[in-house]
Amino acid sequence: MNDTLPLNIAEALAQGLEFLRPLAGEDSFNPAVPAALLRAGLQRLPVPLKDGGLGGGLVDAMRVLAELGSVDGSAALGLAMHYQTLGAAMESESWPPALLNEVISAVCEQGALINLAATEARGGSPARGALPWVTARRQGSNWVINGEKRWTTWLPALRYAVVTARIVDSHPSVIEKKLRLGSFLLDLSLPGVERLPAFDGLGMRASASGILDLKDVCLDDDRLIAASVARVNDPRRASAQAWFGLCVSAVYLGVGEGARNALLPWAVERKPGDSRTTVAEIPSVRHRLGKLDAELRAARIVLFEVAQRWETITGENGREDCLSDVALAKLKVTEAAVFATDHAMRIAGGPGFSRGELERAFRDARAGLIHPPLEDVAYQEFAKKLIQAYRPPCV
Ligand SMILES: Cc1cc2nc3c(=O)[nH]c(=O)nc-3n(C[C@H](O)[C@H](O)[C@H](O)COP(=O)(O)OP(=O)(O)OC[C@H]3O[C@@H](n4cnc5c(N)ncnc54)[C@H](O)[C@@H]3O)c2cc1C
Repeated sequence: MNDTLPLNIAEALAQGLEFLRPLAGEDSFNPAVPAALLRAGLQRLPVPLKDGGLGGGLVDAMRVLAELGSVDGSAALGLAMHYQTLGAAMESESWPPALLNEVISAVCEQGALINLAATEARGGSPARGALPWVTARRQGSNWVINGEKRWTTWLPALRYAVVTARIVDSHPSVIEKKLRLGSFLLDLSLPGVERLPAFDGLGMRASASGILDLKDVCLDDDRLIAASVARVNDPRRASAQAWFGLCVSAVYLGVGEGARNALLPWAVERKPGDSRTTVAEIPSVRHRLGKLDAELRAARIVLFEVAQRWETITGENGREDCLSDVALAKLKVTEAAVFATDHAMRIAGGPGFSRGELERAFRDARAGLIHPPLEDVAYQEFAKKLIQAYRPPCV
């Protein structure tokens, strides 16, 4: 798929893969991994060329993430979080320009990385409507942030986090509009910020999706990116959901495809039993391999079709309508990745079960099920739409 990338991005990807390969496959975070991708300049992908970036769009970002994901899921997930935060910020045009310009310069000139710190222990996924327990309180002309975020990917490597917080005490303009949810740009070098490891997951173990502990972190007034009534009127919503859902899906597609890549040479060369046939020649294995491949190819087609459509849609209504397809793509990709990694392991038997590429892909793919949109939520939404659209025939 690389040949469809613009040349500068294809070159950065080739470099990124070359630097990443010797480091890939670890089960704990290695700072050399984000450093390798930064060295290749991949963090600049979504920034326009005129601002020092690589000038890539959502589809380019996804192609890069799928390639990286096939080599190292955790590394790809870290970069996906950076892309989705930055890409949605630029696409939605909803950030104060000064904040966006600061981040863009830091990304391009200093190799800064950014991520969204939204999830909390008590609230679970913010995509399911939780109001944060992290608070933002006014103190003079500043905001004071307190609380704890969980699952912040690549936490040790980040320069910035977009932190969602419950506005508990605000200046009159915010109170009048009943705005209770704020997003703040946080420089993680500020006093009061602590990064705690605490990630002990089944998969994506090298993603350093840690705890961001915030104690009386004092922010200037202008670090507020946007305030809304608990997501209802957040102008960034559609872009944020699409960039998140599609970038993250590209990573898990890569994880599934990586398992297929790792399985193939083994199946073609291994001769079990009387050594007369290879594993790949056994009819039931061929059936399984073909099915695994079909699931992945179908998922890739759906994913990139939706992303390409997203890039050409203009206007908020069209984008809102497309979000249901973003959820569909995320669902199909995660199902395919879980299926493919499961069946790759069944085909490979003992070597697939032992610590290594297939075993890691099996675990990593399952993390895709946890990110929003959750499959149960998506199915309920599909059913709701279907029922709403149904008009009983007149009798
Ligand atoms: C590897 C990894 C990296 C991550 N990185 C980040 C990051 O960088 N930043 C960040 O903010 N977050 C991140 N997350 C968090 C992630 O995206 C989810 O938001 C989070 O894991 C959800 O937490 P929870 O399962 O406790 O959610 P909850 O919302 O508490 O859901 C728990 C369970 O309740 C059920 N449930 C909840 N709501 C519904 C519903 N409406 N309908 C049906 N069932 C429902 C489901 O069974 C669900 O699994 C990451 C997660 C993983 C696995």
